[in-house]
Amino acid sequence: MKAMVLPRPGKMESSPLKLREVPVPKPRKGEVLVRVLACGVCRTDLDVAEGRIKAKRNVIPGHQIVGEVVKTGPGAKELKKGERVGTGWIHSSCGSCSFCRKGLENLCPRFSATGRDFDGGFAEYAILDSKTAFRVPKKLSSEEAAPLLCAGSVGYRALKLSGLKNGENLGLVGFGASNHIVLKAAKAMFPDSRIYVFARNPVERRLARRLGASWTGGIGSIPKERMDSIIDTTPAWRPFVRSLRVLKPGGRLVVNAIEKIEQDKSTLLEIDYRRDLWLEKEIKSVANVTPKDISSFLSLASRAGIKPEVQAYPLEEANRALLDLKKGRIKGAKVLKP
Ligand SMILES: [Zn+2]
Ligand SMILES: [Zn+2]
Repeated sequence: MKAMVLPRPGKMESSPLKLREVPVPKPRKGEVLVRVLACGVCRTDLDVAEGRIKAKRNVIPGHQIVGEVVKTGPGAKELKKGERVGTGWIHSSCGSCSFCRKGLENLCPRFSATGRDFDGGFAEYAILDSKTAFRVPKKLSSEEAAPLLCAGSVGYRALKLSGLKNGENLGLVGFGASNHIVLKAAKAMFPDSRIYVFARNPVERRLARRLGASWTGGIGSIPKERMDSIIDTTPAWRPFVRSLRVLKPGGRLVVNAIEKIEQDKSTLLEIDYRRDLWLEKEIKSVANVTPKDISSFLSLASRAGIKPEVQAYPLEEANRALLDLKKGRIKGAKVLKP
């Protein structure tokens, strides 16, 4: 089969992923083999390709896989040949630690990840664990479903953690693959809420207005109204500090970012306790997604017609897709099609 393999991490500008012919893998106990129909491209794949996230040798990245089951391993009875399924970042978790027992597989210290510890979906075929593979509702095309499996599901988790109630104001800081799906989910779940989008790029702000944002502005701008909840997806410190200023008393800031870059750390000192945190403001981060988030979000998306804006690339152009992501040439979510 054709696969985009990472022999050695490197800067995206040097195209570190190589097109290789590799054997089609065989499903073992509890696993299924799928023919990949679409695979989303995520910032985490960029981190793997450039070496900030350490992956197994010669890994095939890609962790938002939609595929058709072509072979089932022993003990993978729930899934049948021909079914369309999807999986996300968590390939499997230990199942016995205190987090796994509470349904917080995303916090399991021993979980293994798709496209990091196991080969992912930048290929014609992939192996999924039947416990973390979910049927994709018919209403969603494979390209539309793929970005819902990570960017979308993490956004959904962030929205749940934000504690937002219908009618309250939601702020979205940064408007990439995740927050543009959050906007659609929020409109479905909280129809009377006003949504404020803070985005650097005028193209993103236009997209936000087209999708129903009540207000848009640059990152750091201060609208007249204060927010009950804010979801910050930017990789920088300054928007985080600024977000605290526009929160209402008792409001909650959820940070949906794997990293807040180093050189900006000095801006942390700009947090003024009295102005920015006092009056019961809360800060929470969101990490990964649980398998349950993925299955509930897929059914919400199908029910409410939540579809991401998608830009498709052929499998062979994985490097270009990742470079476009790195350079911020974003028009919704990026998907590879084998
Ligand atoms: Zn565990
Ligand atoms: Zn991801």
